[in-house]
Amino acid sequence: MVTATHAGAILTIDLDAVAANYALLSKKSPGAVCAAVVKADAYGVGLEPVARRLAHEGCRQFFVAQLAEAVTLREVLDNIAHDSAIHVLNGPDPGTEEDFENCRAIPILNSLAQIALWSSHAKKRALSQTAVLHIDTGMARLGLTSSDIDELAADPDRLSGLNIRLVMSHLACAEERSNPLNERQRILFDDLRARLPAAPASLANSSGIFLGTGFHYDMVRPGASIYGISPLPDESNPMRQVINLKGKIIQIRVIDTDMTVGYGATHRATRPSRIATVAVGYGDGYPRHLGNRGHGYIGGALVPIVGRVSMDLTTFDISDVPESAAQPGMMIDLLNERHTVDDLAREADTIGYEILTNLGKRYQRRYIGAVDG
Ligand SMILES: *Cc1c(COP(=O)(O)O)cnc(C)c1O
Repeated sequence: MVTATHAGAILTIDLDAVAANYALLSKKSPGAVCAAVVKADAYGVGLEPVARRLAHEGCRQFFVAQLAEAVTLREVLDNIAHDSAIHVLNGPDPGTEEDFENCRAIPILNSLAQIALWSSHAKKRALSQTAVLHIDTGMARLGLTSSDIDELAADPDRLSGLNIRLVMSHLACAEERSNPLNERQRILFDDLRARLPAAPASLANSSGIFLGTGFHYDMVRPGASIYGISPLPDESNPMRQVINLKGKIIQIRVIDTDMTVGYGATHRATRPSRIATVAVGYGDGYPRHLGNRGHGYIGGALVPIVGRVSMDLTTFDISDVPESAAQPGMMIDLLNERHTVDDLAREADTIGYEILTNLGKRYQRRYIGAVDG
């Protein structure tokens, strides 16, 4: 546990906002079951508190990327939502069959090899095994190709012993409403799944939910939007902000015109300036790319980052803030309601997903809102 007095920054995670976001996504997809994608430690926000709160809100369908994440999640959910389904996006490797069974994880089968592995596992157990089939409709990353599906259609025996609970695919450009690939993927998904045994279907991630009910099918799989990331970057964000980050000022320097700040001397003062050094850096996942481009807030005042972001420290020009408002021990707002994860990501030339999943281990984490509702 990192305590407030020891930490260089305080990360606050609002579980009521997580619950509100999940409720909004459920409401937006009335005909479908709303699952929750909680891979990568719930996008860096914290798997245990997030999964417990979502379970309390009624979520029973969870997706992780890796088996190890499923093992942890099963322990979290066992006492509070024993009936939860935990799906593993990357699917099974040979030798992991028993581990899948032990934590009752459902494999997502992405290739003919994974299908063969799971079908032979079912034969060995003489018991049908629940699984999900993933079809690639435009990502060229994971999933069955159109020719794989031809082979399955020609030889249905390859699926013997499998109880297919869901057929899914994944959208490549869902955050762009008008991208024609969305509709092309939807049509291809319908064509390909028609050649497989009938099963419930799932296509939409967070952004896909906002493309309309034609994309919802039987289950939607939001991740990012649960954690406050905007599903439609070009429109106003309907999601509530989940995280807030404040960095502690540990020293204030008064510098003269022409003095430089930080590594590489990339900022040169054009006037006498006050520089606040905050105990957050790229070692905390605060992007190095924010050097001389990002900013924070003190009260309502914007304070620009000057110089490079270093591993443990970032320097802000606080010359325009009254001295009483910026003293060592006080905090600078790095992420809040008006300067969101998406805003920071834009300044750093990346996406909110990367900001969240890199959130530092050195922050003091405070969860607000009840874990169990
Ligand atoms: C990560 C992931 C999701 C969730 O996507 P978001 O954009 O975070 O909502 C859904 N489906 C698959 C296959 C994924 O890999």
